[in-house]
Amino acid sequence: MICRQCPRGCNIDRAVNLGYCQSPELPKIARAGLHFWEEPCISGQNGSGTVFFSGCSLGCVFCQNEEISHKNHGKIVSIERLSEIFRELEQKGAHNINLVNPTHYVHAISKAVRLYRPNIPIVYNSGGYDTVETIDKASEFVDIFLMDMKYRSADRALKYSKAQDYPTVSEKAILRCAKAVKENIFDDNGMMQKGLIIRHLILPQGTRDAIEVIDWVDKNVPWAVLSLMSQYTPHGDLTDFKEINRKITQREYDKVLDRAADSGIENIFTQELNSSSSKFIPPFDLSGV
Ligand code: SF4
Repeated sequence: MICRQCPRGCNIDRAVNLGYCQSPELPKIARAGLHFWEEPCISGQNGSGTVFFSGCSLGCVFCQNEEISHKNHGKIVSIERLSEIFRELEQKGAHNINLVNPTHYVHAISKAVRLYRPNIPIVYNSGGYDTVETIDKASEFVDIFLMDMKYRSADRALKYSKAQDYPTVSEKAILRCAKAVKENIFDDNGMMQKGLIIRHLILPQGTRDAIEVIDWVDKNVPWAVLSLMSQYTPHGDLTDFKEINRKITQREYDKVLDRAADSGIENIFTQELNSSSSKFIPPFDLSGV
């Protein structure tokens, strides 16, 4: 497969070479299991059936999942095995199948879903660095788009993710997701069945970016669910990024929440400021793979 699946556009044959995301053609997975730390309408009581894909086309310096995203820890599985994993998660009672960082494996996931289509919603849980072509392909099997909007500032996107085009790429991708799902649908228990959630992890000194995300959502997709996350914790080697080597302050978070409260966005998730990020990171021990 000659890969141009994400905006990096490596144009290499993944059967024989690795591109920016360091990912082979067959899916590489670090963990599959029930996960309880997503938004309440995704995790619910039973948990979300997460499949954590290894490798990443973005590679943020502060990534909490660096063990799998940067170091690429995981196990390569067949398309048939991936479809069995979907079935097993469904049998465990998962509310949904949650594809974590799926961008670079959409080709494989698409084939696996053709082998077995679960009777629960499929969630596309992405960093937001997706081409519209990849979103279109994912739209054939995805019910819920859970999309990061990490930056509105091209300078910050370049600095922390080597992706200066992230703001324009992510807004096009999210608009495409919105066009695909059109609305949010919840069941009687408040679990999302279809829809769009836009996530923003607030970084230290990142209130301006956060406010610009809020303003963009308010203007373009005010019906989407907005999740404003305060859980940022310094992680990895931040020697060259001292300004983000701390948690965000209550003042920073309040400033962002004030703007959100003044917006026309109806459905907003927030977090306790002291939410510990470490509890959101499961062990990447190949369980369920
Ligand atoms: S998915 Fe990976 S190999 Fe393909 S274009 Fe993106 S970074 Fe390159």
